[in-house]
Amino acid sequence: MSDKRMEVCRMHAKNAVSILIVEDEERYRRLLGANLQIEGYEVWEAASGHEALQIFSDRKPDLIVLDLRLPEIDGFELCRRLRKMTSAPILILTALNTEADLIHALDFGADDYLTKPFSLQELLARLRALLRRAAHTVSEQSADLACGDIMLSEETRAVMIHGRSTRLTPTEWSLMSEFVLHCGKVLPHDRLLGKIWGPEYRNDHEYLRVYVRRLRSYIEPNPKRPVYLVTHAGIGYVLHPSPHVPPD
Ligand code: CA
Repeated sequence: MSDKRMEVCRMHAKNAVSILIVEDEERYRRLLGANLQIEGYEVWEAASGHEALQIFSDRKPDLIVLDLRLPEIDGFELCRRLRKMTSAPILILTALNTEADLIHALDFGADDYLTKPFSLQELLARLRALLRRAAHTVSEQSADLACGDIMLSEETRAVMIHGRSTRLTPTEWSLMSEFVLHCGKVLPHDRLLGKIWGPEYRNDHEYLRVYVRRLRSYIEPNPKRPVYLVTHAGIGYVLHPSPHVPPD
């Protein structure tokens, strides 16, 4: 290989997006890893939760693909621990497909999930969507946004209300920004799903329910009786600039 070609390869590896794959089934993990490398990603593989946490602290991957069925630390718990350490997108792989389990995974801080078996093309499309969302978050450095009592800090990627500040994951940030940008306006479910997750998610209302619940836990005095991020039944959600108590 010529020096010039070597240089190009090194640059490519240096700039490559890095992905940590956490999966205990070796054949499956290797196959996934090899395929992602062919697509140009830098890949780290972990066979257990402990290994994943170790590689995570050493390598700081840009994205994590996480199987739910793992020995030692299970996938839900690992997801929760990783989410405390990073806002990098987490994609869950699961053989479980009950809505409750998937919502549970999103609740533990995952950004998206895929149910096994899935095609490589499907996985690649999800990874690209997650990376787009994460990049969107970082590159949109503009003035801070506000909707009345609720403020978003671009610098720390946090939502602030009455002095309380919470750092948001890329997906939380995208959704919260959308509400703040359309302060006081009702945003329909399908529009939010299409804008934040992508057109193919327009009917996946559970994503929105989980994320709205998470945002409410950051901004609402009582998340069970929301006064800022309010539901319009059958239509969508609205973010009010000040507490808004719906008439009984
Ligand atoms: Ca497994």
